[in-house]
Amino acid sequence: MPLAPIEAKLSDDDALLIEAVRDFARTELLSRDRAWDKDESSVTEVMGPLSEMGLLSLLVPHELGGLGCCYKTYAAILHELARFSPSTCVTIGVHSMVGRVLDKGVLEPMRSEWLSQWGCANSLSAFCLSEAGAGSDASAAKAESVEIGGGFRISGEKMWVTNGMTARWFLTMARRRDGSESGMPCAYLIDGESNGIERTKITGKMGIRGSETAIINFDETFVPAAHRLGKPGSGLDVFLAGLNGGRIGIAAQATGIAEACLDEMVSYARQREQFGRPIGSFAAIAEMIADSRVELEAAKALVWRAAQEVDDGSSNRSASSMAKLYASEAANKIAYRAVQVHGGTGYVNECRVEQLFRDARITSIYEGTSEIQRIVIARQLAPAS
Ligand SMILES: Cc1cc2nc3c(=O)[nH]c(=O)nc-3n(C[C@H](O)[C@H](O)[C@H](O)COP(=O)(O)OP(=O)(O)OC[C@H]3O[C@@H](n4cnc5c(N)ncnc54)[C@H](O)[C@@H]3O)c2cc1C
Repeated sequence: MPLAPIEAKLSDDDALLIEAVRDFARTELLSRDRAWDKDESSVTEVMGPLSEMGLLSLLVPHELGGLGCCYKTYAAILHELARFSPSTCVTIGVHSMVGRVLDKGVLEPMRSEWLSQWGCANSLSAFCLSEAGAGSDASAAKAESVEIGGGFRISGEKMWVTNGMTARWFLTMARRRDGSESGMPCAYLIDGESNGIERTKITGKMGIRGSETAIINFDETFVPAAHRLGKPGSGLDVFLAGLNGGRIGIAAQATGIAEACLDEMVSYARQREQFGRPIGSFAAIAEMIADSRVELEAAKALVWRAAQEVDDGSSNRSASSMAKLYASEAANKIAYRAVQVHGGTGYVNECRVEQLFRDARITSIYEGTSEIQRIVIARQLAPAS
């Protein structure tokens, strides 16, 4: 089932695009995703086809060569990708989030220069906020920048960087170490072809094993002055604004994983017989299926509402946090039930639900854990003094 509610009025073009992505993901990504899970090779082997489909420029405006999708269509596409390849979904979600930061926060001519190449297979980007000592508390980040003639030198180590092994662009937060702006967090777009960048792949992940995760070490990496985004001191705000949209993407990833789990559950419950009957005829199994359907529909409604708010320009952090919190927790519960319905078969990696169970787990951790989403939601209602 798609992400969009039945009554949603998508244009014919958007509806066709979503359908085309679903077919592409089913035929081109599903079997690869299973292989990436086994050997930890990377989604980036399909950068060419992803680029040809326009999936690397979903949110880039038409006039800059992108597909110019609204946020609802974007979320619906991530949902379809996650049904068949959660790893591809996050690869595109992070890249799109960085592109959107540039679209909304960068002045011309740099905005057009960067975004007009965003859809190319060699223009993948990464979002470098987390550090070893700065996860939920991103403000504790220690990477530093120093002004030199014509730009800045960035030093520091960024942790958990999705797309990090292949990325051409690194959106990075670093604090000024010198001058009148000393201590201020700033956002920089670093060209991955610059000197002084070391990439180390993180292996052994529980799930989304086709998605690249890396440690990125910047050692006095030069960034031209025009690559600093926003005002001095606005670095954290630039990243938090990116995460506001990004969290809707992770929520759509979660609904896609949950949808795949539900499909597998229903199909197995029909075909597997015990005590001379299909197991779906037992009340306990039917209850797991029914609860999963209800939670999935509720999650989709929250994702759709959050995306609608972005499209209406009325977005606030609460809507995206609610969507991410609910959808990711629901995906974990539904994946748990999917394994349960499959019994022993679901415990073995030949069975897709075993992988989906592991893939679902990350959705309640990255781009802000469930605990952090609850803090964001509660603060909107009762602001801390
Ligand atoms: C596969 C993967 C990909 C990632 N990709 C990226 C990326 O592309 N870019 C990027 O910048 N980061 C990325 N991350 C980092 C991710 O966003 C962080 O892991 C996440 O924000 C949590 O930070 P942490 O791991 O340091 O956990 P911690 O912050 O150390 O949290 C540990 C536990 O304490 C809880 N906790 C922390 N503070 C509070 C509080 N105030 N109240 C209640 N509970 C609290 C947390 O909820 C969690 O349960 C990725 C992580 C993974 C695993």
